[in-house]
Amino acid sequence: MSKIILTGDRPTGRLHIGHYVGSLRRRVQLQNEGGYDKMFVFIADAQALTDNADNPDKVRENVIEVALDYLSVGLDPAKTCIFIQSQIPELCELSFYYMNMVTVSRLQRNPTVKTEIQQRGFGGESIPVGFFTYPISQAADITAFDATTVPVGEDQKPMLEQTCEIVRRFNHIYGETLVEPAILLPDNAACMRLPGTDGKAKMSKSLGNCIYLSDDSATLKKKVMSMYTDPEHIHVEDPGHLEGNAVFTYLDAFCRPEHFAEFWPEYESLDALKAHYTRGGLGDMKVKKFLLKILDAELAPIRARRKQYEQDIPAVYEMLRRGSEEARAKAAETLARVRRAMRIDYFDDQELIDAQAKKYKQQA
Ligand code: ATP
Ligand code: MG
Repeated sequence: MSKIILTGDRPTGRLHIGHYVGSLRRRVQLQNEGGYDKMFVFIADAQALTDNADNPDKVRENVIEVALDYLSVGLDPAKTCIFIQSQIPELCELSFYYMNMVTVSRLQRNPTVKTEIQQRGFGGESIPVGFFTYPISQAADITAFDATTVPVGEDQKPMLEQTCEIVRRFNHIYGETLVEPAILLPDNAACMRLPGTDGKAKMSKSLGNCIYLSDDSATLKKKVMSMYTDPEHIHVEDPGHLEGNAVFTYLDAFCRPEHFAEFWPEYESLDALKAHYTRGGLGDMKVKKFLLKILDAELAPIRARRKQYEQDIPAVYEMLRRGSEEARAKAAETLARVRRAMRIDYFDDQELIDAQAKKYKQQA
């Protein structure tokens, strides 16, 4: 069986370090290692409109921002098909058919959608139908490309489960047609759901608690220095707590052994640093400065590449146009297969036409 990788991001803002550790870093690594048949990465503008219907310009303007972020982390359009979701109308048609495979109560049980409904302040019955049903449209995004592997953060687990259920139900009714995907989660717990700089929920564009990949050095410094740590760690000598301490969660996500030799040779490992912090006698500022050096080293080349791509925006749109054309051709193939399986391919089905003609001839 072929291995097809697919993921997407909503153009509701620039991409942040949560995206990076949750999914982007993995995509680039997979891309550079090879060993798969095709990788698709898309900008989910139609999905972004499901909770930004009144703000089309926000979505429109962020398409290019996300594309620039993709290129700056190292996604390479020569190897990876990068496209815009709304340019593939086949996805709408697939969603329409998949709606028959899912019940309202099943959608209501989706924990990620539940949380997002609360965060966005949709009270009672005022949830846009498109937002409520976006897990179905995600099933269309994934299956249209026969994706087998979906590298995403933990918040996407319920979406992948929903997709698998749709695939199984569809195949059960219409025969083996769709490919069931597998989720590829980060191997490090800190990366599955990176918290915001406020230490609260996950870092999310919609919550304003992000460190963006494109933040300059000064902004990065300001954000790291005001990060949430341990409220009980008031004096340096107090014992510190790691649980819920965003600075240490970020270290779990970004720190590599060689960073100690490079930036803080007094410690030989993250475990040694953690032990000193929990024992007491290590101030938050010192740890934050260490984290800042690590983040700055990781983000500097990304920022520099972004600056280059920003010089030729028309070329970036052209890259997206080509990617969208390629993606559309693939989705059209899948849609034809789906229509055949669902027996709605009337004009391509000469047997059907002949059988109906015969039936009426016999009756005459
Ligand atoms: P929005 O607030 O508009 O939903 P978002 O910040 O949640 O934006 P998405 O575009 O919804 O970002 O997510 C894109 C991808 O990034 C998904 O695979 C998701 O799992 C991953 N991701 C997003 N935020 C995080 C995070 N804080 N930690 C790990 N992975 C994340
Ligand atoms: Mg999200």
